[in-house]
Amino acid sequence: MNVILFGRRGKVGSVLGPALEAAGHTLVESTHDADVAVDFTRPEAVEENVRVALEDRVPVVVGTTGFDQERVAALARVHELPVFYAPNFALGAVLMMRFAAEAGKLLPHAEIVELHHDQKLDAPSGTAKATAALLPAGTPIHSVRLPGLVAHQEVIFGGPGQTLTIRHDTTSRDAFVPGVLLALDKIRELPAGLTVGLDALL
Ligand code: NAP
Repeated sequence: MNVILFGRRGKVGSVLGPALEAAGHTLVESTHDADVAVDFTRPEAVEENVRVALEDRVPVVVGTTGFDQERVAALARVHELPVFYAPNFALGAVLMMRFAAEAGKLLPHAEIVELHHDQKLDAPSGTAKATAALLPAGTPIHSVRLPGLVAHQEVIFGGPGQTLTIRHDTTSRDAFVPGVLLALDKIRELPAGLTVGLDALL
């Protein structure tokens, strides 16, 4: 497919661009030439990039976190096109969220610790917010920002005499590539509007 990659020179984009080409996609510079758009930019850029793509009838895969989902969902509905957003494209993180949801049914006292590199703009992370939504209301989230980290999350469950820790580590941005390729494969099968989470594609 012809893909316009917003954020091509960023930390994720510079890994994703060559990986998309290696998988047989062609990177294009304009939404006029694109079959699909992918956005890994910054929270305040998402809405405008989505709007430009949808106006050219191009569906969008969003990886950027911390944007206003309601506004993007409304745009997708108005244009009657699919927009897909995953707060985390790493398969291991999707499993971590599933396992956490399962554990939360029996061990309701939990706290989330999310750890990211110090240039991440949003806190808490999109993954932490998505995980908290699967756990009892009020589950606290702690955010750590330090150089040397990529993207990591622990969900710690406590009960009398025991704890359970579920942890996922992204050690390289290659982790996000298979999830984005899957989203490109499936986006045209999705209904109009905003679909959230890799789980919807698995
Ligand atoms: P980054 O290194 O800061 O890269 C962002 C890139 O977007 C930069 O090259 C920036 O260019 C560009 N950009 C900014 N505004 C733009 C606009 N309006 N149109 C087009 N490009 C624009 O950030 P990153 O680490 O790659 O992360 C990008 C986003 O993806 C963040 O929100 C992060 O949280 C998210 N993320 C999501 C996942 C996931 O699995 N969903 C995984 C990792 C990261 P300039 O530097 O010139 O401004």
